[in-house]
Amino acid sequence: MTTPTNHRIVPIALLAVSFILLSPAVAGVDDKPAQPQWFKGNTHTHTYWSDGNAAPEHVIDWYVKHDYDFLVLSDHNILSQGEKWYPIGRDDWRPLRPEHVEDLERRFGPDWVQTRTVQDTEQMRLKNLPELRAKFERAAEFIMIQGEEITDAFERHSVHINAVNLQELIPPQRGDSVRDTIQRNVDAVIEQSQRLGRPMLAHINHPNFGRSLTPEDVASIKGERFFEVYNGHHSVLNNGDENIPSADAIWDIALTLRLTEYDLGLLYGFATDDSHHHHGQGRTSQPGRGWVWVKADELTPNAIVSALRAGDFYASTGVMLKDLGSSDRTLWLEIQPQDGVTYTTEFIGTRWRDGAVSAVGEVLATSSELRPRYEMTGDELYVRARVTSSREHPNPFAEGDMETAWVQPVLGQARGNITAHEPGH
Ligand SMILES: [Zn+2]
Ligand SMILES: [Zn+2]
Repeated sequence: MTTPTNHRIVPIALLAVSFILLSPAVAGVDDKPAQPQWFKGNTHTHTYWSDGNAAPEHVIDWYVKHDYDFLVLSDHNILSQGEKWYPIGRDDWRPLRPEHVEDLERRFGPDWVQTRTVQDTEQMRLKNLPELRAKFERAAEFIMIQGEEITDAFERHSVHINAVNLQELIPPQRGDSVRDTIQRNVDAVIEQSQRLGRPMLAHINHPNFGRSLTPEDVASIKGERFFEVYNGHHSVLNNGDENIPSADAIWDIALTLRLTEYDLGLLYGFATDDSHHHHGQGRTSQPGRGWVWVKADELTPNAIVSALRAGDFYASTGVMLKDLGSSDRTLWLEIQPQDGVTYTTEFIGTRWRDGAVSAVGEVLATSSELRPRYEMTGDELYVRARVTSSREHPNPFAEGDMETAWVQPVLGQARGNITAHEPGH
């Protein structure tokens, strides 16, 4: 990125206060003077390394030019490492055609592109992550974080899990149920993170893709706590339908289960592109639909992933926040206004009353202010916020997609009551 962006300019006092509130564990390290900043990134992207329709440098260049700070290439069951040759075809349906090769030569120089012919087939060598990092990374401006979409299944159910900041490939682990399949893949990420002493995370992708995962499946994930509340692919049913809940509703059902029956803690939501189609327009799966804003000490893979792990982020498809914070009694945010746009903030949570869950995922309060704030009453298991803009998404995944931000849930006081009444449950 070459232009500074004004979203980084947040009053220092606000930053300091909210950072302490948001991340008590990190705030305990007093000798670190770094001021946290907001960084924008996408953790779900495909290229020629699997089924994306463009070269990795074409894809990365788009994100750099659109002011992203970090990007994860998450191809299916492969890391962008070593040597891979991709066929150049002359048919219209081929992802890589001669004009695409010429385009890359024109943009990145004639020495950049390497081709060969093997048994009458022309091929182009794909740039690997070390080469891509050397070309695009700029200190404090743009970084790549290594990733993989671990692409597994149980019977007809797709189990896709993005592993972020991986160092070694994780092949699909296979399980004997949907939940076992999710857990084995998550466990493989946790094992690698512990063995290599490096922060990593795994997020469950597009639960409604192929109607694959139930809210209970998403809720059951142990040792990890991330899923996609928004995925920009056109066929993932973010909004659900008459038979399945929306990804937003899955979040509330899963949170309620995790904080009562399952005793597993909070679940955090990502928005991602899952971009496959990097040429042309239309209702396919293009870049620029969903992302996260992360508040981190510095722009490095470990700092970004550590901040994500701490919950210091929000998901967005266009609504930008100046800041946000919480305590055990309040959840507040400040919206970055845009001309001619209005915002509706819904504070959503589940209450625990008379020893039982009342309605799951109730709208507890609604605000049209730029600094909405929710004061907890004491009976909430959790509270989260969703800010919906009056502006339609400029490149929607589906009709009626409005620009939105999803603020991560925070625990309410009622959670303590359950633990106290049902120890070890
Ligand atoms: Zn997927
Ligand atoms: Zn994907």
